[in-house]
Amino acid sequence: RRDDEQTKKEENIRCLPLLDNFGFECFPRQLVHRSIQQGFSFNILCVGETGIGKSTLIDTLFNTNFKEHKSSHFHPSVGLKVQMYDLHESNVHLKLTVVKTVGYGDQINKEASYRPIIDYIDTQFEAYLQEELKIKRSLIKLHDSRVHVCLYFIAPTGHSLKSLDLVTMKMLDSKVNIVPLIAKADTVSKTDLQKFKSKIMSELAGNGIQIYQIPANDEASASVNSLQECLPFAVVGSMDEVRVGKRTARGRQYPWGVLQVDNESHCDFVKLRNMLLCSNMEDLKEDTHIHHYQRYRCHRLTKIGFADVGPDNQPLSFQEIYGAKRQEFSEQCQREEERLKQRFVQRIKEKEAEFKETEKELQDEFQHLKRIQQEKTKKLEEERRQLEEEIIAFYKMKADFEAQQAQQAQPASNL
Ligand code: GDP
Repeated sequence: RRDDEQTKKEENIRCLPLLDNFGFECFPRQLVHRSIQQGFSFNILCVGETGIGKSTLIDTLFNTNFKEHKSSHFHPSVGLKVQMYDLHESNVHLKLTVVKTVGYGDQINKEASYRPIIDYIDTQFEAYLQEELKIKRSLIKLHDSRVHVCLYFIAPTGHSLKSLDLVTMKMLDSKVNIVPLIAKADTVSKTDLQKFKSKIMSELAGNGIQIYQIPANDEASASVNSLQECLPFAVVGSMDEVRVGKRTARGRQYPWGVLQVDNESHCDFVKLRNMLLCSNMEDLKEDTHIHHYQRYRCHRLTKIGFADVGPDNQPLSFQEIYGAKRQEFSEQCQREEERLKQRFVQRIKEKEAEFKETEKELQDEFQHLKRIQQEKTKKLEEERRQLEEEIIAFYKMKADFEAQQAQQAQPASNL
């Protein structure tokens, strides 16, 4: 159409401005309309020590008041708190999920502090994968809970990263887009902050930790470069309204002055907000899907036994893999059945032998008792016989005695 207009201009033909767009230049409008209708979802993971300012920063970012009560420092292990919010700004609906670490950095043994965080990220990937593998899947309706960005809160020591920061970021960098933040940046002076930022970046690079790379697109390459140079963002959070001249602003009031969170010369809060919400939210989501989720998916499917190519480097079809898996599974079942049968026969034999042994023992015991019984009976018979003889002898003695007495009584009566 532009060419047409040019030709008409050259031919001095009067052009009328179009009242509305038509043709395929309307495509973007359809996307905008559909996105507004569907609404947006965004999942943020905040990792940082207790009291470092995670809740305050989230409130400041979304202009809300989500915080309920102060977090405790006495958790025996690291946990995660998941909160979901439905936010509206003009006609845009946002389903926001904020996941915050609880008790991070509070234990003496910090060895496995990253474990619950990794487990949470993997669980969300797994839920998505399971939906994807269903025959009847509904990925559009599914609430995608995969973590799109991890805001890593670095303590404003002005010195260097702690080993806990390095270990956790190293474990997380292949699973999530990490955006490092210097928390409570108002507690570090401007010159110290610059040195601290470069120290952090060199430590991250030195330890091979991949953080989120803000993509350079042509239109905004200048501002993107300045954003990239600002990493890690030095942020300050506050929902307090403070007086600045005749107006009020969100900030923190100090005896020596006011720090405005929305003032770019005071801190990087605005840069972070622009990057997260205005320019890079879609990129963060896409990066999560294309890189981090793909990595997880690839690892899981390989573990299950799927592969794109066979051992001979020839492409494998899904049907072939399924056939091979089925065959392998049925062979495995047969092997297992055979093993169970053998085990069963073996157990029966063992039990039989056990029963025979017990039977023999019982038989021996019975013979032994029988023998004792016979001996006892014999002994009793002997005693009985002796007793009978004694009784006979006694009666005999008694009869003799009575006969004797009778004889002695006869002469006396004769006298
Ligand atoms: P969380 O436990 O990480 O969620 O920390 P909170 O957001 O509850 O903040 C803990 C304390 O730090 C609160 O008293 C906040 O007012 C304070 N705080 C939060 N953000 C900042 C900040 O940027 N600068 C300063 N100086 N204090 C902050």
